[in-house]
Amino acid sequence: ASDAASSLLPRRPLGNTGLEVSVLGFGASPLGGAFGDVDESVAISSVHRAFARGVNLFDTSPYYGLTKSETVLGRALRDLPRSQLVLSTKVGRYGADPRDFDFSAARVTRSVAESLERLQVPYIDIIQCHDIEFGDLDQIVNETLPALAQLRNQGLVRHVGITGLPLEAFHYVLDRAEPGSVDVVLSYCHYCLNDTTLLGSVPYLRSRGVGLINASPLSMGLLTRGGPPDWHPAPPGLREAAARAAAHAAARGRDIAALGLGFALRQPDVSSTLVGMASPEVVDANVDTAMRALGTGAGGDGSDGSDDDEVLGEVLRMLEPVKDTTWPSGRPLP
Ligand code: NAD
Repeated sequence: ASDAASSLLPRRPLGNTGLEVSVLGFGASPLGGAFGDVDESVAISSVHRAFARGVNLFDTSPYYGLTKSETVLGRALRDLPRSQLVLSTKVGRYGADPRDFDFSAARVTRSVAESLERLQVPYIDIIQCHDIEFGDLDQIVNETLPALAQLRNQGLVRHVGITGLPLEAFHYVLDRAEPGSVDVVLSYCHYCLNDTTLLGSVPYLRSRGVGLINASPLSMGLLTRGGPPDWHPAPPGLREAAARAAAHAAARGRDIAALGLGFALRQPDVSSTLVGMASPEVVDANVDTAMRALGTGAGGDGSDGSDDDEVLGEVLRMLEPVKDTTWPSGRPLP
């Protein structure tokens, strides 16, 4: 490989989709302002910078910034070659309130048309049911997935996925859905320094040929020096332990975000890890961390990029008492 090619992010196959996705994916929720206001030109530069460094997976939702993220991402993607992008967005979630969910066939069909318009593209690579645990899982199985399959037959979407927090909800849907109707699962906050419960679902997903995307490797900002936003749902004990771990890493001259991202990226059963990024500097820092974590280039966190890293071990031990602590999300399972 040429120098240019070898300094691009590696890719991994995504289940049976035939897609090859960059190990680090671009999470576009910050483009909607989820983590603070973002200047549109900075947002667009971030997308372009990510693509230039080998990121090909871009993930958004009509919910992020109440359509703003899709609109801004669409403007940024206009300048990039469509065939080289894996564009993923979602249906079913349109606000923060439990009443803002609608997984009906009519709504999700209209939703895809609206997303195509905002994203300014003729098709979406991966369309996902957003946060299924807030919906009626039987409706997802019997109505939403068949409606998305129709859109797939029409060529408006290429692959179908489901997203959410409780892993049991994925199993519930996959146990009942028509084989081949779910190509991808997007899980979040379950493969990071403080929670590795996602690994328990890997054999099941693999046996069904379902591709796995892991989001929020920094647990939505919990594993950063600045700490999480106010709305973060982590219980106080977990927040405090994460803050202590972040301070410890800093005292040892290291950034917990880089340690956390490296840890997540080294998991080979995850095809892509989505990180929220809204500035070219954060894109560069995260791509550098990814290269170092995977032994494919120089990184910026001062580590040797391996799991036997001393500070990483100390941080993992500090998080041990709160390991796998999660929080409630959505309706109880049927
Ligand atoms: P995250 O856990 O990576 O946290 C993002 C926060 O960390 C942001 O504030 C970001 O600016 C900051 N950050 C990123 N890199 C950093 C670094 N190197 N140093 C310090 N801070 C850094 O990820 P997230 O945004 O929660 O999730 C990533 C993406 O995954 C989302 O944008 C979205 O696309 C997707 N996602 C989907 C779902 C779902 O479908 N239900 C849920 C969560 C996330």
